[in-house]
Amino acid sequence: MRRLLTLLAVLGLAAAGVVVAVVLTTGTEDGAPTGDPGAGAVPVAVPEDAIEVVVLVDESTDSGDAERAVGLVTEGARMWQGGLAGLVEDDAGEEPKELVVRTERVAPDGLVDVAGAEIVVVVATEAAQSGGARLDTGCATYDDVFAFGAWRQREGFDSHHRLPEGTFDAVCDGEPVCVAVNATFTAGGVTPMEAFGLVGDELGHCLGRTGA
Ligand SMILES: [Zn+2]
Repeated sequence: MRRLLTLLAVLGLAAAGVVVAVVLTTGTEDGAPTGDPGAGAVPVAVPEDAIEVVVLVDESTDSGDAERAVGLVTEGARMWQGGLAGLVEDDAGEEPKELVVRTERVAPDGLVDVAGAEIVVVVATEAAQSGGARLDTGCATYDDVFAFGAWRQREGFDSHHRLPEGTFDAVCDGEPVCVAVNATFTAGGVTPMEAFGLVGDELGHCLGRTGA
């Protein structure tokens, strides 16, 4: 309930017109998300003190599902950016950290290196088989990164919404790396409001871990 209240409070802040500073890096040059986040993407410069959010998409994922996922994460980050700005204003008056969202499209049997990222959002599927793509955080490697079942079996994976999604807290070089694994983008069965709430919840958990 506290989380829900926090989310609602943040939504209120966002609605109140708090300055939004999310850098849109996932789509075309004008920042519009596309159904093909990797196509024509320019390398994203992530400022040293920014919170880097990487959305991992299996390149064989339906482009509509991928587009929806990237859009929801971008909007969720924008919401939290507004919320954090409001919290900082209430607090010490310092600048909030910038949230930078970027997308990585990964071959179904590929290896993706996210070293340096604070938050990784995985567009997972319940259907994924073993022998799939691997995730490298710079400190540890995780097999079958797009397979929700593989995450469900990992000790420490926290899934508490009765849906195929959850978060996993790792640490690399003393820095938190928060992995949010979400198979509802591909499985469907959730309303747009539920989907947005879930992404906001996952990002909120991960931002709490980063001490943003
Ligand atoms: Zn939750």
